[in-house]
Amino acid sequence: MAQLKPGVVSGKDYLSLVGAAKQGGYALPAVNVSSSSTVNAVLEAAAKNQSDVIIQLSNSGAQFYAGQGMQDGFKAKVLGAVSAAMHVHLLAEHYGVCAVLHTDHANKGLIPWVEALLDHGEAYFKQHGKPLFSSHMLDLSEEPMDFNLGECARILGRMAPLNMSLEIELGVTGGEEDGIGHGDHDASADNSHLYTQPEDVLQAYKKLVNIGHFSVAASFGNVHGVYKPGNVQLRPEILKNSQTLIEKECKTEPKPLNLVFHGGSGSEKEKISEAVSYGVFKMNIDTDLQFAYSEAIGKFVTDNPRAFKYQIDPETDKPYKKFYDPRKYLRAAEQNMVARLDEAFADLGSKGKSLCR
Ligand SMILES: [Zn+2]
Repeated sequence: MAQLKPGVVSGKDYLSLVGAAKQGGYALPAVNVSSSSTVNAVLEAAAKNQSDVIIQLSNSGAQFYAGQGMQDGFKAKVLGAVSAAMHVHLLAEHYGVCAVLHTDHANKGLIPWVEALLDHGEAYFKQHGKPLFSSHMLDLSEEPMDFNLGECARILGRMAPLNMSLEIELGVTGGEEDGIGHGDHDASADNSHLYTQPEDVLQAYKKLVNIGHFSVAASFGNVHGVYKPGNVQLRPEILKNSQTLIEKECKTEPKPLNLVFHGGSGSEKEKISEAVSYGVFKMNIDTDLQFAYSEAIGKFVTDNPRAFKYQIDPETDKPYKKFYDPRKYLRAAEQNMVARLDEAFADLGSKGKSLCR
């Protein structure tokens, strides 16, 4: 088994992480972050669980990282992502963690965001000999297939010389995340577009395999966010059928595809294990961790209501500084996020499997 140095992982080291996960029958959690506090919670949890981890930013998470008050919103989305990446590059090494750095869904309107990040990535590569991000995602699943694959091929052509990987989406993940996605997760809608066709995956494989490294977010009934169960059936066999079709048509090794599971929050544990057994190496978890973070703040405020009303209690003269200091409740939030991540590392089987030495 490859042994990797702590820090941000890219290029052939990234492929080692993906390969080890697929061979070992486990997946890595991909956690959406939007602040130094949430990044640090992920690094803490990965170090504690001796697991490698994927840290990712959505466009609006990146904007929040730069500050929502920044005048130029597009600039904030670019610079916030760069700033978060620098933070992870500096600290992952010192936490002793191997972290993959990734950006989440970019639809057609956000192609300029990815290209601006690649401008920064090329400059970073010139200076450091490694990419700023390990990978980016393009989600053109709402566009016609030709446009989706054409743009993926073009962007992957820019990324491959930087030793970066591209995540693509085929079929549509239900629910909504940062304004991207679809609300039609109820049973009355026609759900056929929530299930990727293996023939589409084969077409994508043929188009991209000789350009560079890529992974596929294929839809098998998965939905962003947490909804009442039972509306959409998870059908992980779609992933298995895609793997076997490509293996047969392209005469590859078993499980040629590197698969990504979106909308992991709230999914049944058996379906998660089944998906992982078909070559899913990355499972996105956002909603459950947002809840864990906020749940702890809610509890802290409920337990200490007067500290959020008065600096000094008017009846008892008790000073409340040690309660309203934001570090107190943000630390409680981080600890609860770490606790939820303990569960994720265990569920995905990556606990104790870090390649970091
Ligand atoms: Zn997603």
